Amino acid sequence: MKKILLGLIGLIIIVVGIVLVRTALLGKQVTNNAPLAKLIEVDASLTARHLSEAVQFKTVTMQNRTDTDWPLFLEFQTWLKTTYPNFYGVVSSEQVVEYAQMNVWQGSDASLAPIVFLAHQDVVPAKATDAAQTLYPGWDYPPFDGTIAGGFIYGRGTIDDKGSLIALLEGADRLAASGFKPKRTLIFAFGHDEEVAGSGADAISKLLEKRGIKPYAVIDEGGAILTGMAGIPGQVASIGVAEKGYLTLILTAKARGGHSSTPPDYTAIGGLAQAITKLEASPFKNGRDEVMTKMLEATAPRMPFKRRVAIANLWLFGPIVDSELRGVDITRAMMGTSIAPTIIDAGFKENALPREAVAYVNFRLHSRDSIKNVTEHVRHVIDDENIEISMSDNIGSEPSPVSQIDSGPYLWLKDVVNGTFPDAVAAPNTVVGGTDSRYFARNTDDIYRFAPYVFDASDIARIHGLNERMNVEAFAKAVQVYYLMLEKAGGE
Ligand SMILES: [Zn+2]
Repeated sequence: MKKILLGLIGLIIIVVGIVLVRTALLGKQVTNNAPLAKLIEVDASLTARHLSEAVQFKTVTMQNRTDTDWPLFLEFQTWLKTTYPNFYGVVSSEQVVEYAQMNVWQGSDASLAPIVFLAHQDVVPAKATDAAQTLYPGWDYPPFDGTIAGGFIYGRGTIDDKGSLIALLEGADRLAASGFKPKRTLIFAFGHDEEVAGSGADAISKLLEKRGIKPYAVIDEGGAILTGMAGIPGQVASIGVAEKGYLTLILTAKARGGHSSTPPDYTAIGGLAQAITKLEASPFKNGRDEVMTKMLEATAPRMPFKRRVAIANLWLFGPIVDSELRGVDITRAMMGTSIAPTIIDAGFKENALPREAVAYVNFRLHSRDSIKNVTEHVRHVIDDENIEISMSDNIGSEPSPVSQIDSGPYLWLKDVVNGTFPDAVAAPNTVVGGTDSRYFARNTDDIYRFAPYVFDASDIARIHGLNERMNVEAFAKAVQVYYLMLEKAGGE
């Protein structure tokens, strides 16, 4: 008995020892020794004014394409050419389809695969309540005025995605003016309809494929330097190394209609409600993947001791960490395919049974799933012959491949971050929304969704929402960082 007890105590001491050693090692792993990069001088009020002017072009894309003011996109592009003459002087610019623009800054070394920078020209609408579109309830400043106030540039697109587009061009224009000649070819692809379909990005990626161009990396929106992210102290440079897929299924329940005084056993609304209930009760596998594990490890040194111990010892505390992560909407969304019923439509009269009830269910696909297996799962779970299941017209997209982490272009990007944001820790991330970069999966596995501006995690709600805004200083810094990023990209 005594031997067993002693053995047990010994075992506990060993386990505690391993746990503590691993915790100490993890804390050491991520120390930022990168030398600080020298940044160019940038006039913050000038770059802010340019972003403000860009916002004033109301390049809104509408779900119904004919409702979009397409000629305005040409006016916007004319403004780009006038504002960034050095950039447009060194690139060969082509309209690939409609208003999608590809600009190629030819490098001198043909053996180096190009890096593609993406940004989109269009923005989502802002809701006006009057016909003249002057009243925007909830907005502190009208969304298309580009008001600069209190250290911010306000307006639709200041983050998504004119923030990236303009900062990228500001950086590239200055680099071109300096007489820089890239060794590696730099490609700038500016889609025109990211918010509705992404046909511009699709066409550009197909053109690259046709020309046999395999990029070294693709850089797009989707990550930034965030403060206040998931309770992690300090700044996190969130680099999107994966992006979820997209699918909407339409469930149509059919039943006998007629007078509500003599209902049949099976009603359309009842059947549909059951189907949705069954579906929500059978979620897809949700668990920590490679991206989440690496994100935890990268940010762990910033975490309180207790959490650091857990992350350093996922072999022991993995299940506890996972259940915590599943308890938060955003991290749960990163770790599995989500199910979201978004539209339900049935009935028109309180005493009449509808013959049809329709629901739209939107899925965001994790990389372990596919459109095929999600659709099969839904059919299997609902298992009701009275319910038709079909895909919506909005074509789905498969989840992206997972880009290299801790190797390849990731290290290059991490270097840039470490050299320019010494207080930030670079961490990989899964982007739960959709970006234009998804089309470039046919060109390369190495897609990184990251823009070098700082904003507060609470500002994420402003994207596609009210009072979207960009910090004036953060924007000027983004210009400096893009300059360096492009210089490094073209100089290798
Ligand atoms: Zn966007």
